[in-house]
Amino acid sequence: MAQSPLFSADFKAEPYWWEDAPPPADGETALPARADVAVIGSGYTGLHAALQTARAGRDTVVLEAEAAGHGCSSRNGGQVSIGYRPTHAELRRELGRELADRIHGESFDAFDYLGDFIGREEIDCAWRRVGRFHGAHRASAYEALAREIENEPRERPVEAHMVTRAEQREEIGSDAYHGGVVYPQHASLHPGLYHLGLLARAEAAGARVVTRCRVEAVERDGEAFVLRTARGPLRARDVVVATNGYTGPLSPWHRRRVIPIGSYVIATEPIGANLMQVLCPKDRVVSDSRKVVFYYRASPDRQRILFGGRVALKETDPTVSAPRLHAVMRRVFPELAGTRISHSWVGFVAYTFDSMPHIGVHDGVHYAMGYCGSGLSLASYCGMRVGQKVLGSKEGDTALDNLPFKTRPLYRGDPWFLGPAILYYKVRDRFGI
Ligand SMILES: Cc1cc2nc3c(=O)[nH]c(=O)nc-3n(C[C@H](O)[C@H](O)[C@H](O)COP(=O)(O)OP(=O)(O)OC[C@H]3O[C@@H](n4cnc5c(N)ncnc54)[C@H](O)[C@@H]3O)c2cc1C
Repeated sequence: MAQSPLFSADFKAEPYWWEDAPPPADGETALPARADVAVIGSGYTGLHAALQTARAGRDTVVLEAEAAGHGCSSRNGGQVSIGYRPTHAELRRELGRELADRIHGESFDAFDYLGDFIGREEIDCAWRRVGRFHGAHRASAYEALAREIENEPRERPVEAHMVTRAEQREEIGSDAYHGGVVYPQHASLHPGLYHLGLLARAEAAGARVVTRCRVEAVERDGEAFVLRTARGPLRARDVVVATNGYTGPLSPWHRRRVIPIGSYVIATEPIGANLMQVLCPKDRVVSDSRKVVFYYRASPDRQRILFGGRVALKETDPTVSAPRLHAVMRRVFPELAGTRISHSWVGFVAYTFDSMPHIGVHDGVHYAMGYCGSGLSLASYCGMRVGQKVLGSKEGDTALDNLPFKTRPLYRGDPWFLGPAILYYKVRDRFGI
C-alpha cells in the first residue's frame, strides 16, 4: 500500500473505534434450523429489534454477513442529533401540519430513547450531552439557519441559538465559518462501545447472533419464511430486514429504495490537551451547512480529531480519501497542518428519495432503514419499534409508518447518478446557489 507522508507510522485503514471496540470474534454460533424471528443485519436496527423479541421470549436469530456490527454501526461519527434531513417547515409543506408535528415529535422520542437506553442498560460508551455547533459556510447560509430556527414549531422546538462570527471562537477554534447555530441538546458517544454493549444485551436476552452468514434469499413457505444463507437454510415465522446502506441483491424491493453513499472519516494522531482545548473548547460535535456536509469532533478521550465527510465523486479507498479529508481539515484548523493521520475508513449510509427514514412491512417482511446519515438515535428507535411490531404490539406504531417508500424509474440499487449529483451540490455549496 502506498504510504502518504501524512500517515502516521502505525496508520490503519480501519475505524478508530475498533481500537477500544474491536469487531467481536465471529463464526462461532451455529445456525439453527428454526427460529421464531430472523433478523438480517447486526447493526443498531437489527439488534434493537432482536432485543425486543428475545426479551419477550421469542426464539430470535440475528444473521450477519460479516462480523457483528460490520456496517455503519461501528463506523459512524458518534454525533447524536434530533430531527431529520428535511426541516420542520419542509415536512409541513410535504405532509401537512398534523403529521409533520407527530414525525417531528418522534425524533425527540428517538433521542430520549437512546439516552435512556444507554443509562438504563449501563452501557459504558462515553454518552455526553456536549451540544452541536453547526457552522454557516457562507454568510447567506447564516441567514438561512437563523430563519430555520425561527420556523421551529412553537410547541416543541429543538433548542437552538445563533452564534455570530465574532462569538464563534467560544464554540470552536476556527474562523472558517460565518457564525452558526448551537444545538445544546445534541450528544456524542463512542459508536463501537455502544454497539458492543447493545450486542451483549441482545445476546444476554437469548438472541443468537450468527456471523459470516450472508442471507441470499427470503422465500415464503406457508405461514413462515425460509431464509437461504451461506450456511444453510433457516425457517422463521417472522423476518426483519435491517441491512440499511448494505442492502444488496437479497431484497430488490428495498435495494431500489435506498441509495448507498460512502462517508469517509479520518482520525488524527494525538494532538495534546492544550491544542484540543483551543480547537474544541466545549467538546461540541460539529457539522456545517453544506449540502455535502463535513462533520467532526474530539475523540471521547479528547486526544484526537475525528473528521468526516464526502471527498470523492465516485467511491474510493480510505487511503485515497484520507489526504483529501486532511486538506479540508487543515482549512478548518490550520494548526493541524503538521498532524498526521492514524486511521481512515469508510462506511455506507443509506439515503432515500425523500430524505426520510422508513419503517414498515413489505410482502410480510418487516424492515427499517434509510436514516440518511443520522441513524444513531433513529436506527436504535426504529429497530426497537420494529421488534414491537413483530410482537404484534400497538406500541410499535410510529408516525413514520405510512410514509410512501418511493423509488425512481431506472433505479435498481446502483447509484449511477451519485457522481453528477455530488458535483452539482459541491458547486452549489461553493457558489451559494
Ligand atoms: C462514516 C459514517 C458516519 C456516520 N455518522 C453518523 C453520526 O455521526 N450520527 C448518526 O446519527 N449517524 C451516523 N451515521 C449513520 C449511522 O451509523 C447509521 O444510520 C446506523 O448505524 C444504521 O444502523 P443499521 O443497523 O440500520 O445499519 P448497519 O449498521 O449498516 O448494519 C447493516 C448490517 O447488515 C449486514 N447485511 C447486509 N446484507 C446482509 C445479508 N444479505 N445478510 C446478512 N447481513 C447483511 C451488513 O453487513 C451490516 O452489518 C454514519 C454512518 C457512517 C457510515
